[in-house]
Amino acid sequence: MKKISLILILLIAAGSAQSAPKIDLVYPPEGADIGPVSWSFILGSVTPGSQLSVNGRKVDVYKTGAFLAYIPFDSGEFIIQLSALDASGIATLDRKVNVAQRKRTIRPDSLCILHGSINPNYNLSLPVGERLYVSFQGTPGCKASFSVGRSLGFPMQEQNAATEADDKILAFSDSSTADTSVVPGIYGGSCLIQGSEGWESQRIYFYLVDLLGNAVIDSTGPIISNWDDTRQVFAKVKDSIAVLKTAPGLGYEMFMPRGMILQINGIHDQYYRLKLTETKEAWVKKSSVEFFPAGKIFRTAKLALVKTAKAARGSQLSISLSRPSVYQVFPGSDGRSLKILLYDVQADMDWVRYDPADGFVNDIRWRQVDSRTVELEMSLNNKLWGYSAAYQKNTLVLSLTAPPAINKKNPFKGLKIALDPGHSPDNGAVGPLRTLEKDINWQITQRLGRMLKKEGASVLYTRENGEGASIYQRPSRAAGWKADLLVSIHNNASPDGANPLLNSGYSTYYYQPYSRGLAETVHRQFQKNLPLNDHGLFYGNLVLCRATEFPSILVEPAFIIVPREEALLLDGAFQEKIAKAVYTGIKEFLLNTK
Ligand SMILES: [Zn+2]
Repeated sequence: MKKISLILILLIAAGSAQSAPKIDLVYPPEGADIGPVSWSFILGSVTPGSQLSVNGRKVDVYKTGAFLAYIPFDSGEFIIQLSALDASGIATLDRKVNVAQRKRTIRPDSLCILHGSINPNYNLSLPVGERLYVSFQGTPGCKASFSVGRSLGFPMQEQNAATEADDKILAFSDSSTADTSVVPGIYGGSCLIQGSEGWESQRIYFYLVDLLGNAVIDSTGPIISNWDDTRQVFAKVKDSIAVLKTAPGLGYEMFMPRGMILQINGIHDQYYRLKLTETKEAWVKKSSVEFFPAGKIFRTAKLALVKTAKAARGSQLSISLSRPSVYQVFPGSDGRSLKILLYDVQADMDWVRYDPADGFVNDIRWRQVDSRTVELEMSLNNKLWGYSAAYQKNTLVLSLTAPPAINKKNPFKGLKIALDPGHSPDNGAVGPLRTLEKDINWQITQRLGRMLKKEGASVLYTRENGEGASIYQRPSRAAGWKADLLVSIHNNASPDGANPLLNSGYSTYYYQPYSRGLAETVHRQFQKNLPLNDHGLFYGNLVLCRATEFPSILVEPAFIIVPREEALLLDGAFQEKIAKAVYTGIKEFLLNTK
């Protein structure tokens, strides 16, 4: 005891000297808004050799001075207090962040509708006859209802609603289930959208009445209107690429080129809803399309003919339609087949004309899967390397590419390999020592590029150092250059709420079935050569993996936010090791081709 207090006195005395340990808290930044987490991570650095405590808990400091801690967070305004101590003294730092409410429960004796709990929380326009679903959280055990314009008293019932799991945290956790316990006081109800007067741009009001007859009204609900089918219905894509999503704010479903005609039948905040067929919908950002004048119509397209033609490497299909229509291409997992769905199309097809010189396409058949969807199914005589699809007037031209000829002695010779150094102009993830992911990605990419060039490959960087490129520019630069293959290089970080002590190491991502082999051979090289945790091989619905023209993968060789892995990523020898692993993985994939 005596000894300790003596040290403390000495330290306090030293603290009055001018120098004290430095504290640099990199993440979260001051005033950050953090989701409804109960534990999350912080990272930064202190003078190497310091002792660090965060909110009274001792935190490990890596030899570089970097730290990464997983600490409890309270909801609301939350202060992270750091104190570092070394022989020169003590330093402290306070960081204030805002943590969203996790699960709010309302006291049964306070009658209220919880602010911000109303769903939908955006304005909507839907066709007459469609069902609208609404909900809010309020005092449990009451009577609830809602009104739209002059239509009063649609009933609501208390639901057994569970909180929704955060899929990001689920992907980064080691358990298969998340906390989805039931929250009391969630009321839900529905009504049909009506065409009568009083349904034009009306706000939804919500009512909650307790057992004593006391009532509260909430007037912060969204504005609802009926979508009038007689006004503008057709629009066309005005961006170079429009992203169609499964629902507003959810995942990518397909990408459509400029000029594509879309039928719209609903508005949801920042999105239009597309009616692809009677049963299939998709969503597009409002800003991506422009309307044709009211009254302009486009009839359901007719599919008349499919022709094949031998191409330089593979085959070209001409799918003749009476007008361009939304399509989706699905390469098969067997690597030798393909399905195409054509929406708002009816088949009137008596012929498929095969080019006798084309040995790539084996067989094509069609079927009308529902009244307005045609499916084309084709089998191939060789592996599919990639494809591209584009309209030339009313004809959908689908180019199917066969694998390149690989020189077994020198598989890289004559190949064109696109390398994508992730991020820039944005920094990407930032390590505890403020190492920028974009810089490390660039350094590894260059090392890999040098190795590939030495073996006779041509290499395209989707961006140069210091240059910025958007996420959509990158695959399109590679396709414009007619690349044979694309590898995107990143380094990882965990989302808020995930435990970074359980998430570390390398991972590999693919989307197209014909990219899976490349993801596997590269991942195997990571397993053999990187002294890190195996974070996994992933299917990833990522723009860089969605390139269609060639096999493309994205790699995350390490977690830049983990102090030990950040130190490794800063080491040239380790960067070389990563580059070599990717190089060897690509080589193995090429040698397996055919
Ligand atoms: Zn990244």
